[in-house]
Amino acid sequence: CIQGNQVTLPKLGEVKLIQHRQVPDGFTIKRALVTKKADGWYVTLTLEDKSVPDLPAIEIQPTETNSIGVDAGLEYFIACSDGTRKQPPKFYRQAEDKLAKLQAKRDARAKGSKPRRKLNERIAKLHQRIARQRRQWHFETAGELVAKADVLFVEDLKVSNMARRNKPKQGEDGAFLPNGQSAKSGLNKSFADAGIAGFLNEILPYKAAKAGRLVVKVNPAGTSQHCAICLNRVPKELSDRWHECPHCGASMPRDLNSGVLIKKVGLGVRLTIKRESRNGRRSPRRTA
Ligand SMILES: [Zn+2]
Repeated sequence: CIQGNQVTLPKLGEVKLIQHRQVPDGFTIKRALVTKKADGWYVTLTLEDKSVPDLPAIEIQPTETNSIGVDAGLEYFIACSDGTRKQPPKFYRQAEDKLAKLQAKRDARAKGSKPRRKLNERIAKLHQRIARQRRQWHFETAGELVAKADVLFVEDLKVSNMARRNKPKQGEDGAFLPNGQSAKSGLNKSFADAGIAGFLNEILPYKAAKAGRLVVKVNPAGTSQHCAICLNRVPKELSDRWHECPHCGASMPRDLNSGVLIKKVGLGVRLTIKRESRNGRRSPRRTA
């Protein structure tokens, strides 16, 4: 479907194209995904080459010494059982300030006016730049993590509805209709939530597979509510940032405690997360 600087797309015909990389010899194009971004339209091609073998399954037996636990959160993007913590870089906040200023400027302009439209374009481009910078940083962080250990235990973060893409909708004539996706992945959605899920579910496993490392998802239930040292229950509110154990005296930042616990759960430790409910019946409850 690619001829020179033209790509032929169904319903649209020939479209001029800037090609970032040549399609290598021997590959066939399986799929084309057309997306609109703030700075233009993109077509992403999925290629197949039958002579390339599937990645071999990685088999590593996790042990105390070859594994780490990784807690992901907002305050510290990651906190590892080996004590390392990493905060998101400052450019998030810098860009957010800039974004807030632009939005205030836009809101002062009349609806439907040209200056307002121009400001909206600048806002969309700034969002795009933030997203790209973040992605870049996620890849670097994933690289650092896979260099640390053979097995990485992470929280099994269920992909929320928010992060799932809406199904494409087509009208009778085959044209694509709005499916609510752009509203869903909208500008005002929290960056952070989507960021953590994308990091744990996509970027980290991708980096790990390339490096021959294993990412193992563990059930996070209880990993913020128990002591990583003595495993007793130490209830906390979300606002409690420090873990202080009255049973064994352990004292450490909350997310490091979770990182150590995620590793322990990964290595087979079970946490008791049942507790008495008000009417005396024992009921399981999520405590993470
Ligand atoms: Zn303790």
